[in-house]
Amino acid sequence: MFDRPLKILLVSSEVVPFAKTGGLADVAGSLPKALALVGNDNAGNDVRVVMPRYRQIEGAAYRLDFPVHFKNRYETAIIKESSIESHYQGAHKTIPVYMVENYHYFYRDRMYMFDDEAERFAFFCRAVLEMLPKLEWQPDIIHCNDWQSGPIPLLLKTHYRQDPFYNRIATVFTIHNLQYQGNFSKDTLKLLNLGEEYFHPDLLEFFGSVSYMKAGILYADIINTVSRTYAAEIQRPDLGERMDGLLRKRSADLFGIVNGINYHEFNPRTDPRIHRNFDQFSVSNKKENKFALQKEMGLPERDIPVIGLITRLVDQKGLDLISEIIDRLMQEDIQIVVLGSGEPHYEQLFENIKSRYPEKIGLYIGFNAILAQRIYAGSDMFLMPSRFEPCGLGQLISLRYGTIPIVRFTGGLADTVNDYNPATGSGNGFGFSEYAGMALLHSIKKALQLYREQPEQWQYLVKNAMELDFSWARSGVEYLQLYQEAITRHLDMQRIA
Ligand code: ADP
Repeated sequence: MFDRPLKILLVSSEVVPFAKTGGLADVAGSLPKALALVGNDNAGNDVRVVMPRYRQIEGAAYRLDFPVHFKNRYETAIIKESSIESHYQGAHKTIPVYMVENYHYFYRDRMYMFDDEAERFAFFCRAVLEMLPKLEWQPDIIHCNDWQSGPIPLLLKTHYRQDPFYNRIATVFTIHNLQYQGNFSKDTLKLLNLGEEYFHPDLLEFFGSVSYMKAGILYADIINTVSRTYAAEIQRPDLGERMDGLLRKRSADLFGIVNGINYHEFNPRTDPRIHRNFDQFSVSNKKENKFALQKEMGLPERDIPVIGLITRLVDQKGLDLISEIIDRLMQEDIQIVVLGSGEPHYEQLFENIKSRYPEKIGLYIGFNAILAQRIYAGSDMFLMPSRFEPCGLGQLISLRYGTIPIVRFTGGLADTVNDYNPATGSGNGFGFSEYAGMALLHSIKKALQLYREQPEQWQYLVKNAMELDFSWARSGVEYLQLYQEAITRHLDMQRIA
């Protein structure tokens, strides 16, 4: 199937360990590590990553610079280079990470949510493409991710279409979250050096805007999203974020590959961030992590069920369901530890809950990667009642740490968590389908009942969860197949054209 190693450029606006606001960064930092070493009898592939160089990123080395012709002026793109190391199944490789630097666009106090997002990421996309011949590196595949890199497939099929350096490059566009679309004013066309004819419903126009997400969906050779269920859901009007019609039109080119996590980094046996290491053979050590977590969060150190919640505090995450049932839930002898940041009204909601139940709620508002690991390790259960969830990483990390997920069966949560069946002992978590507080409460109660009444069965569930494999091994191979398919389709299209 893979007749030669592929040259793959992964484009992302955030990459672990350099910059992260959400799951995209985890994927962009860990998928390349798997791709570098899987396929071709493990010869691996030539994988490189490109991202903006934000202010907080240190240590990247100067590589080259060039002007990007822009809005009747030139903006300088400086390309710096850093790297990530891949240790994967005993092998090792260094993956170059290129960073597009420009003081005006990226030297700011946060990564997103500025008035000139259209211009910042038009610059980024054009700099990424202009960089390639200067590096004398011609990828087979450019793998774009979310709206920030949506213009790349568009630019390749317009400005660069006739250019022999570019016209063999195939594209894959991955939707990590359809809700964030990068919709901007009509003037944005100028930033992409495109004429007004592109402001058309069949092209870039999207409900009166120019949409970067639509550009990616329309022009990529292949589109995918981060779970099979989400790939089906986004073709429906209720979860399609107004893109469902377009996605249905391209359904033959739309795939779903569930995300993995890096089992080397997320490993309770070696994780230096947690209080006491453990594995599936020493699950009892988990309890020490619970006590350490309770202490750190200012909660009474007691051997009672602890439920973790680590999330962006946004509507997507089903927090209104938690709010709805919290008083009933607090009648149970349990503790809930919450780590999150986001919309002020949700921050306020959890502050209020905390003030009403100070002995039962541990709360940290903010982003804290170390505390996150301690919660994954020290909790018994992990809550993800999402309204929608393209893939979700929290449930995968929690399974790895023997913390049983309680989820709403949507998107990737439906593809990775199976409801525990008391009759057969099958399943790896608890879940519900109807978006309703009572359904959530019912699932939590089922989990609590098993925890309390059948501790041996619970231990079995925990051990089983830790033995599951949600590493990139399988999904990495699926991505290689997808790239191969994109190359084939790209060449076929060229032959027809
Ligand atoms: P999303 O990408 O929608 O935010 P995911 O479940 O795919 O959701 O990924 C979220 C990632 O971010 C997980 O690795 C989770 O542990 C992490 N995370 C979310 N909020 C925080 C926070 N406040 N502090 C530390 N890590 C967080």
